[in-house]
Amino acid sequence: MTLDLDAPAAVDYRALARRIATEVAAPAAAEVDRDARFPHESFAALRAEGLLSAMIPVELGGAGATVSDMAAVTEELGMACASTGMVFAMHQIQINSLIRHGRSAALDELKREICRDQLLVASATTEVGIGGDVRSSSCHVQLEGDTFRVTKQAPVISYGEQADLLFLTARRNADSPPNDQVLTVMRIKDIELERVGEWNTLGFRGTCSPGFVVRGHGPADLILDDPYGDISARSMLPSAHILWGHLWFGMATQAVNQARAFVRAAARSKPGTVPPGAQRLAELMVVHQQMAELVRGAAARYEATYDDVDAQSSISFAVAMNSLKVSASSLLIDIVGKALVIVGIMGYREDSAYSLGRVLRDAWGAPLMVNNDRILGNNAQLLLVSKD
Ligand SMILES: Cc1cc2nc3c(=O)[nH]c(=O)nc-3n(C[C@H](O)[C@H](O)[C@H](O)COP(=O)(O)OP(=O)(O)OC[C@H]3O[C@@H](n4cnc5c(N)ncnc54)[C@H](O)[C@@H]3O)c2cc1C
Repeated sequence: MTLDLDAPAAVDYRALARRIATEVAAPAAAEVDRDARFPHESFAALRAEGLLSAMIPVELGGAGATVSDMAAVTEELGMACASTGMVFAMHQIQINSLIRHGRSAALDELKREICRDQLLVASATTEVGIGGDVRSSSCHVQLEGDTFRVTKQAPVISYGEQADLLFLTARRNADSPPNDQVLTVMRIKDIELERVGEWNTLGFRGTCSPGFVVRGHGPADLILDDPYGDISARSMLPSAHILWGHLWFGMATQAVNQARAFVRAAARSKPGTVPPGAQRLAELMVVHQQMAELVRGAAARYEATYDDVDAQSSISFAVAMNSLKVSASSLLIDIVGKALVIVGIMGYREDSAYSLGRVLRDAWGAPLMVNNDRILGNNAQLLLVSKD
């Protein structure tokens, strides 16, 4: 075996993220939540480390990181500040779609620009009147020579006002059926974002996600090459559920850590006795381990089939990736609830060192974010036609 001394050193993404999470994201998290403000300091730190372009191939200026690498970063951020983790996850979901489905020279140049300037990508996949059915659009692309125009009523766009680029789904043209969609890329400077309402929610308050009417345009060669159906099945949906799953696992770990600290403190205060919460903590660790295996297993499955178009287009893959989302979001709610019962009133208080208030509020965004009922409905239809 020969050592390639010129090869770049492997990056320890988890350690890097843990440092940013601990030193930057955690100290700002309460204020980000209270004021529903964007976590600017965390994103300055993530940009400084080049993490916004980490998944872009090395030859285009990125680091060639994997979805699992970014999942580890998301998990660490999620332990400190769920909003920071969610924004990071949503950005990486779009980057994964771009690197896998954007092949034109213009899109390659955009990838270089993302690396150089650490551009942040937001997304508008949901639409007023369509709800969480992201495989359906009402708005459409209007081609005018080399450029396109689009107008979309978006009920929720996270960090639309802080992003540099917007990835937006629309019907291919005015005559296309609702599910014949493309994924367009626009620069925020080429968009008129008319804000509709405020983002004043229970949780994920720092994602800054009000509704907007989007009126934008861009060069036609910034529309991704593959149909959105393929992008969704092989890239956007699985990477969303994997990255969200890791974010939620990070949040669950934070709740578990609070419960462990509480039980240990109770044990220290009465040496020689086993505190009543210890048994419940043991039960909580069982569910926590279940969630760990679930999200890590899904990431491994995705990596193992990353270039296998047939495997990732199969019904069993779609059902598994949908099930991951339903399962991980439900486990998060379960874990935070169990942690709250262990910690008791000190977890219920907003002003206690053991408070679980923020993670409890953030957690309830998980089953709603593309509603679990809608996902189960999709799986029900897939299972009817599946021959597996
Ligand atoms: C923190 C956060 C950030 C977000 N950021 C973005 C973003 O950046 N960009 C973006 O485009 N979107 C974003 N969203 C929107 C999100 O992805 C969902 O689309 C949205 O939350 C769904 O809204 P809804 O509950 O009104 O929709 P619906 O999915 O329409 O659900 C409404 C109700 O109808 C029921 N229902 C609907 N369809 C079915 C069905 N087929 N079977 C059974 N029941 C059904 C559901 O159970 C639910 O009770 C974000 C959401 C959150 C929470």
